[in-house]
Amino acid sequence: MTRRKKVYEGKAKILYEGPEPGTLVAYFKDDATAFNNQKHARLEGKGVLNNRISEFIMEKLNTISVPTHFIRRLNMREQLIREVEIIPLEVVCRNVAAGSIATRLGLEEGSALPRSIVEFYYKNDALQDPIVSEEHITAFNWASTQEIDDMVSLTLRVNDFLCGLFAAVGIKLIDFKLEYGRLYEGEMVRTIVADEISPDSCRLWDMTTNEKMDKDRFRRDLGGVTEAYAEVARRLGIMKDPPPNLTVVGETGAAE
Ligand code: UDP
Repeated sequence: MTRRKKVYEGKAKILYEGPEPGTLVAYFKDDATAFNNQKHARLEGKGVLNNRISEFIMEKLNTISVPTHFIRRLNMREQLIREVEIIPLEVVCRNVAAGSIATRLGLEEGSALPRSIVEFYYKNDALQDPIVSEEHITAFNWASTQEIDDMVSLTLRVNDFLCGLFAAVGIKLIDFKLEYGRLYEGEMVRTIVADEISPDSCRLWDMTTNEKMDKDRFRRDLGGVTEAYAEVARRLGIMKDPPPNLTVVGETGAAE
């Protein structure tokens, strides 16, 4: 790898300065974390798969005029992206009850929600990303009402599109998380989709068996994490030959 300035290192990605101003290079690591970093493992090949799956989805979103930070994939583990100011919110869209909403509202996991629900969580590891309302978001100036409107409508468009995309390959989109950024273009600021869209940030269940094909395999110690991600990539027609040695290496921390 050439010597480049590291801008940020997160749990699953490293951001480097890009070749031109206003661009960054996102490097997808093999690291997997859950439960606020208490559980950690290196899943060989995960970064390669997420780079490809996220590229595939972001490119499709760009073609339906959902603006994203994605410019182009550079190699197996890296993609060129637009530099944005990240809005400190995780925007979750749910179609079926699972995970935290099932616990919080006492819903049976797998039960259909009356309609798609969009929720906001404040991005703060120390506070374990608490759920917040629009009142909190505007009062604390995390985002404006216009940005909230943009995020809700874009998220619902992404949901409609992804539900169809996955349904076509026998996968149910249970829920997913998006992050948004502010793109400054002269006088203009645009709200665009940032981060990644991959089995790390979505719940994906096989349409017929309900088998989990996402990060819950890691969170819940179900095994076969990268194999499931590779199967998602295979069904989407992205990767014909999944990378070899898809084994878990160096897992640490307690399961919940
Ligand atoms: N999610 C994520 N990052 C987070 C929290 C959630 O990508 O820090 C995704 C998660 O994979 C799922 C959706 O957002 O697809 C909803 O997650 P939930 O609130 O149920 O939390 P979890 O059960 O994952 O703690």
